[in-house]
Amino acid sequence: MQFRPQNGWGQPGSTNSYTTSYTIRATENANIFPEISFQRLGKETESSLTKQELSRQVVIIGSGPAGLTAAIYSARANLNPLLVDAPADHEKQTTPGGQLMITTDVENYPGFSEGIQGPDLMVEFRKQAERFGTEFLEEWITRVDLSERPFKLYTEDKLIKAETLIIASGASAKWLGIPGEAKTPHGFGGNGVSACATCDGPLPHFRNKHLVVVGGGDTAMEEATFLTRYAKRVFVIHRRDKLRASKIMQDKAFRNDKIEFVWNTDVTRIIGTPEQGVTGVHLRNVQTGEERVFDSDGVFIAIGHKPNTHLFKGQLEMDAVGYIKTSGHSTATNIPGVFACGDVQDSVYRQAVTAAGTGCLSAIDAERFLDHLPIALPTGEEVTIEGEHITPDHRVIILPTGEVVPNEPEQPRE
Ligand code: NDP
Repeated sequence: MQFRPQNGWGQPGSTNSYTTSYTIRATENANIFPEISFQRLGKETESSLTKQELSRQVVIIGSGPAGLTAAIYSARANLNPLLVDAPADHEKQTTPGGQLMITTDVENYPGFSEGIQGPDLMVEFRKQAERFGTEFLEEWITRVDLSERPFKLYTEDKLIKAETLIIASGASAKWLGIPGEAKTPHGFGGNGVSACATCDGPLPHFRNKHLVVVGGGDTAMEEATFLTRYAKRVFVIHRRDKLRASKIMQDKAFRNDKIEFVWNTDVTRIIGTPEQGVTGVHLRNVQTGEERVFDSDGVFIAIGHKPNTHLFKGQLEMDAVGYIKTSGHSTATNIPGVFACGDVQDSVYRQAVTAAGTGCLSAIDAERFLDHLPIALPTGEEVTIEGEHITPDHRVIILPTGEVVPNEPEQPRE
């Protein structure tokens, strides 16, 4: 049976007829070996499985603009990349192809003067990566071990060994954490509460209804504007009296007669019944403290995203929010041979085009590293695949043996 993701390639929202997934099961060169591993802290056996082993020069995690651009570049460099991504899962909010798969019009990606649908753009990325021989694997990575090269990535039935690793696992929608927001049966998630207007907005449940969008950034403006295609009225609830969204997105929302703004207001609870779904929200004015119930048939949370980095916690250096730290000069992380690109390391720009740009950098960095060329680390030092460290001032090289040699050009012989 062909795998058909819920929000996948050529799925609703896309005008591209490219409907089947073309994940290639990575079977060649695989050998079977028994793996017995132990949990780090406990004494009990984690599992005793027969895992299929794959070894690759370049492994990429994530199939958004960053991951697929890294794949295009490293495949064209004959590095035969393996791109691993989680299968589509509505509950866990994973979508092969990344966030553009749940976006409609993309007007700012260069090269498309009339704009392009997000899913269509990602299908083109993917076809291009495939054209140069990228191998795709849709599986959950359950654990990674970056303590030594080759790095080890574990899925349910595979061990993937990677000489270099490019992390492009992106970011996921954030939630408010208020009562009523959790998935059914614990709340109204999936029964009137959503974090994706393009996925859920067209559903009959939301048509011709009064809907609430929470947030004041570009995502909130985009979601609100999109929802006016179906809803009777859309209320944007924002905690301040100023939007964070870009001027163009603000103007579009302000011009839309169906959108109304509720300023300086927090949503504190979502209410409803299991039969009807959402019936309203509790609001609190942050300036006066006044509380009221506001009728609504649906709530779309659009308050930004958090990086998907839990797999690497404790192994890679991250900022306070969890974005992976990379070097100013490259996409190198604190571990030589591990590179990060796209939204997983970018809390500032977060655009498809910047993600694609850093994906390109990652591929070139991985290629340079495999070519034994020094790569700059976030600390300012440089390191080669052989483990030679060049100090930040570039004055000395520390060999893997500990020997320190001056970093000077060899003197010509007399
Ligand atoms: P942002 O971080 O830009 O905005 C998040 C919004 O949600 C802010 O207004 C913030 O309020 C509000 N918010 C955050 N947490 C809470 C909370 N707990 N309770 C209430 N409100 C909260 O995220 P976006 O996802 O909107 O945008 C991220 C990036 O993606 C941006 O760079 C944006 O430009 C880009 N983008 C571009 C699009 C396009 O070009 N088509 C579409 C969508 C996104 P406050 O302002 O008070 O901090």
